[in-house]
Amino acid sequence: MALIVQKYGGSSVGSVERIQAVAQRVMKTVQAGNSLVVVVSAMGKTTDGLVKLAKEISANPSRREMDMLLSTGEQVSIALLSMALQCLGQAAISLTGAQVGIVTEAEHSRARILHIKTERIERHLQDGEVVVVAGFQGITGNGDLEITTLGRGGSDTSAVALAAALQAKCCEIYTDVPGILTADPRIVPDAQLMREITCDEMLELASLGAKVLHPRAVEIARNYGVPLVVRSSWTDDPGTLVVSPKLQPRSLENLEIARSVDAVEFDTDQAKVALLRVPDRPGVAARLFSEIAYQDLDVDLIIQSIHESNTNDIAFTVSKAILKRAEAVAAALAPALRTNAQQSLGEAEVMVEEQIAKVSIAGAGMIGRPGIAAQMFATLANAGVNIQMISTSEIKVSCVISAQDCDRAIAALCQVFDIDTSPIQLTALPELPTPLQPVRGVALDFNQARLAIRHVPDRPGMAAKLFGLLAQKNISVDMIIQSQRCRVIDGVPTRDLACTVAQADAQDARSTLEKAAPELGCGDVLVDDAIAKVSIVGAGMVGQPGVAAQMFAALAQEQINIQMITTSEIKVSCVVAEDCGVRALQAIHKVFGLAGEQKIEVPA
Ligand code: ASP
Ligand code: MG
Repeated sequence: MALIVQKYGGSSVGSVERIQAVAQRVMKTVQAGNSLVVVVSAMGKTTDGLVKLAKEISANPSRREMDMLLSTGEQVSIALLSMALQCLGQAAISLTGAQVGIVTEAEHSRARILHIKTERIERHLQDGEVVVVAGFQGITGNGDLEITTLGRGGSDTSAVALAAALQAKCCEIYTDVPGILTADPRIVPDAQLMREITCDEMLELASLGAKVLHPRAVEIARNYGVPLVVRSSWTDDPGTLVVSPKLQPRSLENLEIARSVDAVEFDTDQAKVALLRVPDRPGVAARLFSEIAYQDLDVDLIIQSIHESNTNDIAFTVSKAILKRAEAVAAALAPALRTNAQQSLGEAEVMVEEQIAKVSIAGAGMIGRPGIAAQMFATLANAGVNIQMISTSEIKVSCVISAQDCDRAIAALCQVFDIDTSPIQLTALPELPTPLQPVRGVALDFNQARLAIRHVPDRPGMAAKLFGLLAQKNISVDMIIQSQRCRVIDGVPTRDLACTVAQADAQDARSTLEKAAPELGCGDVLVDDAIAKVSIVGAGMVGQPGVAAQMFAALAQEQINIQMITTSEIKVSCVVAEDCGVRALQAIHKVFGLAGEQKIEVPA
């Protein structure tokens, strides 16, 4: 008899009829010979309603009382579902998070799960009961037994954590969409359902996927190897399978907080090519990388910094073996770019650096923990290592540094992040079982603002200080980009630094950085929130030349200017003007052949 954890979201238990339909589905699963733990959210928009009520009483209610209030929503739905099951003749019992023993940190409104007691659930399962558990809530472990919540949308996290703790065969997340789609169908009407996606891809697609699946749930699934299925509670369609890599078994203690970084990786077989002062207009990146792809050269990191006086810097890394050819392409293109640039700005210039290494920290645990990237920068600074390029994605931060600093950097990072297994050398590409489509899905994020910090002194420790300050304010930074060009001000070499943060954090981030800027010797801090970030994600793009070029070309064809570029192994993101975002998303969805015939219905 297999144990399955099913989770039903608010819309799936939004009415009496829906609760009865869920009870039927649960019954069917039991009759097929499974034992079942069912996690439910609050009915429909109950939680929103409770938040509204609180706001009518208090402009700034305490987080403790908010948890007390919001956790009631789930208590209603577990009782009703349990009754519905009993009416069908199925033995069932409802349990709150406290009754189960879902032990969390004492952080109200955003608690992470530390441990789940399984004895009581196991006892009820043994007695043939379906156990219906309130999602989204837990209890502090010692002393006052305070009720906590995991943060909005947290029932997914409850469900996957239960599946991990109970070593369930799988965790099924029932929602009102048919699964994970290649794009948001409200923007791209011909978006298609994905049959399968890896956890890493899912995490990189956060802004697309987060509406369907809480990123912390994906993090737990990945860390504990829980097979996840996302499917509609309205149909019998199979939905999307979210697959996890085979990792070493890990302890269930400190379930959500044990490890923020899983691996330290390095690659010393890289070289950097930078193209400085290229004109800031549509088509430049497309031209450069199309030419490089045409020569069948595979590019690893790509970074385009913000423009200063109407020109951009584009830098990329390639393996050393193909450096000469990549450099030749860039050099051949530079004069052509110059003729179109405003003459007064000087010439586009190619700069090559062969003695570099890439060091990265990777792990799903860094999501929502802005301190981790800052800690990496601080660690490098303390080891006296200067950072030449930074590239960030949801689950990885990579820094390009001088090759001679590589060993020192790795040793320091392994120590700080407590990685005792040997660091992973990334030279050979992973063997892919079947040739994958290079791009699995595309995402659009209107929620970011761009921050530029001018004239940051080019010495170890600056990124650590600046991003450390933001981390202290709990501000998560998404993209981080350093300009390649060095400008000497009062005898000090400086670079511009740009990053993106959530719009809601932008003013706070600006004032924090502005306050620190004079003392650190930095210049102005600028904010632009009229931006959009478009991304392509796919594990199949690893080692495939030309994928980024195709994205840039699609944007160029639409006359869309690219303001910033960053990449990770499985993701390319571009910042464009806000009013181009929708067109940009549609164009890249199309160019990678993700569109399909089937019309996917999603509720409003
Ligand atoms: N009811 C909570 C919310 O609406 C938790 C959840 O639905 O996952 O955020
Ligand atoms: Mg919900």
